[in-house]
Amino acid sequence: MIFSPPSKQRIDFLGQAANAYQQQLTAGTPAAELLKRRGLSQDSAQYFRLGYVADPASGHERYRGMLAIPYVNMQGVVAIRFRCTGDHDCKALGHSKYMREPGDEAKIYNILALTLNVSRIAVAEGEPDTWTGWQCEIPTIGVAGVQNWNRLFNRHLRGYKEVVILADGDDAGMQLADTIVKANKNATVRQMPSRSDTNAFYCEHGAEALREKAGF
Ligand SMILES: [Zn+2]
Repeated sequence: MIFSPPSKQRIDFLGQAANAYQQQLTAGTPAAELLKRRGLSQDSAQYFRLGYVADPASGHERYRGMLAIPYVNMQGVVAIRFRCTGDHDCKALGHSKYMREPGDEAKIYNILALTLNVSRIAVAEGEPDTWTGWQCEIPTIGVAGVQNWNRLFNRHLRGYKEVVILADGDDAGMQLADTIVKANKNATVRQMPSRSDTNAFYCEHGAEALREKAGF
């Protein structure tokens, strides 16, 4: 079993929280500024139902001030992950950049992209790179790093003519790419320049260049 869905009650709670955080993502908030720095359009932010935790839902108090990233499947919002909105090196400040709720297991991000009738799909590392691919009209799913690639995810990739891995330009990016390529004959790797990632590449070179690099 890859994923045991949360209860209907839990999905309702998460859906309501995600809606509230979306309302709270107003111009000038740290989350809106973060998305602006990443070159994300309002349409993309809306598609991904991104939000800002100004007024946390019950139990979400420790995510106050963070960007809310809902994980949405056919049933609704099945998880929300949270990202620090500071323009700094989180590790150097002693906190993690991403937080998830206890018991929230590894999941594919933007899994609804797997319902598209396309012959090629991209896999990006992390949510911001997934937004970026999607914004550039590349059907993209995301995984939060190699340690979150569950081998059962491979079955989702089998029907595609080609699976394009948009790998970060670092060791972790190559580890993820290697892991997926080893298990999928239809997978190919497009690595971003050294120390760059899909989003940085897009911000520097634009959508056309990214599409060309990814071969879409
Ligand atoms: Zn931080």
